[in-house]
Amino acid sequence: MVSEKSDIGNLLIFDRLTRDNPDLAGPVTDPRAGVLRQRYHQLFDDPELPVPVEAIAEDLLGLIVEEDEDLHVSGMLLPAERRIIVNGREARESPGRRRFTIAHELGHWICQCENGNAKPVYCRAEEIGVDPEARALEREANVFAAELLMPEEAVRERWNGDAMTCALSFGVSALAMAYRGHSFELAPRPLPQRC
Ligand SMILES: [Zn+2]
Repeated sequence: MVSEKSDIGNLLIFDRLTRDNPDLAGPVTDPRAGVLRQRYHQLFDDPELPVPVEAIAEDLLGLIVEEDEDLHVSGMLLPAERRIIVNGREARESPGRRRFTIAHELGHWICQCENGNAKPVYCRAEEIGVDPEARALEREANVFAAELLMPEEAVRERWNGDAMTCALSFGVSALAMAYRGHSFELAPRPLPQRC
């Protein structure tokens, strides 16, 4: 069961895909996420769902995933150290939130760091940067994360109109699932109190 607080955090993340980024309208899927899943499943015989996001980070990409109770942001990526640090408090509140943060940091890694950018990345759910370039990078990481954890094809196949039960299959929060359904025009835009 996800908490209301963590759902609000997820709402803020997903709001950045839509309301807060009207000038950054774009696709809601990223083929690089599918390529990454395929690379993993060619080597490891795990079930496809829920997507084994932590194993993708650690076993496929050789990244270290850690939690930090005192982290002042939702997640951090330290490319030079190949480390992802997840906010331990948020992770305890919602395993789905933890998975989304790891997937989001993988988005930064795959989309922005594998080509040589080694600057640390700090990610907040609650703070929306005013810098358009930073917002574009955050949006790219969010779209990547959504597609990594909730592949379009699997969502369309399994969508039953109930975000809560679908969310269990994908290992995400009900609100994240509801937004994903909305992205594919399978459901109306969710409201926080409905999830
Ligand atoms: Zn980020």
